[in-house]
Amino acid sequence: MVSQIYKKLDGWPAIVVGVLALAGIAYFGFHTYRNIEVEKTNLLAELETAREGNYSLLQQVRERERIIDSFNAQISKISGTVGTLEKLAATDEELLKKYSKIYFLNENYAPTKLTEIDPKFIYTNSKNTQIHTDVWPHLKKLFEDAREDGVELLSASAFRSFDTQSSLKSSYVFTYGTGANTFSADQGYSEHQLGTSLDFTTPASGTALLQANDPGYKWLLENAHDYGFILSYPAGNSYYKFEPWHWRFVGRDLATDLHDAGKNFYDLDQREIDTYLIKLFD
Ligand SMILES: [Zn+2]
Repeated sequence: MVSQIYKKLDGWPAIVVGVLALAGIAYFGFHTYRNIEVEKTNLLAELETAREGNYSLLQQVRERERIIDSFNAQISKISGTVGTLEKLAATDEELLKKYSKIYFLNENYAPTKLTEIDPKFIYTNSKNTQIHTDVWPHLKKLFEDAREDGVELLSASAFRSFDTQSSLKSSYVFTYGTGANTFSADQGYSEHQLGTSLDFTTPASGTALLQANDPGYKWLLENAHDYGFILSYPAGNSYYKFEPWHWRFVGRDLATDLHDAGKNFYDLDQREIDTYLIKLFD
């Protein structure tokens, strides 16, 4: 067979044979090249499809992330609300009540927890040396800061039970007759029974209770709100006798707002006061 081809080629100029051979190689090369090109185009198309697929996957992932984020936000909002409700449920709402001759504290009421006031802040021989446990850190800071300012404040009387109050009032009635109603009326009663109020004095005052001309009184007027305390019965109030010594803890926010607005606790609506309950001990 090969010899037959050679025979047929015999007589063809060698150059023609060479050209044919080269043409064959070129044809084969071109085919191979085209195949590679087609394959390359296919691969690029596949890559592009894959890229598009990836992009769409990425978009789906992002969309899911957005949904999860929004769920998380809702969950934390709900748990925040639950936390607020729990905090509110745990806060004794009597602690911000206004007391009067028509609304007073139940005689069986007792604070949930009481703490002994540090003896270095107690007036000599004073009884009634306990304060509401959550009020104590605020009161302690008040005592300490006043001393740093050179004002020595002391507690003359803090928590008083209903029984202590009753016997105190009857002793006032005994001493002062019916005038005792304006001296130790039902309002003052309730506030001491809460465990969040106290009567201040200073060693310098020379009396058992702080007076309006004592430097300690001036210091309290300017600073007590920073520690959450207010003067329950200020000078010129319409509901009770002026008691410069008697201060009640109502929380920093309420005390500061009252101070800044120049208002008295007993002038506010109970509904407005109640909005501060949640932040009472902050
Ligand atoms: Zn008092």
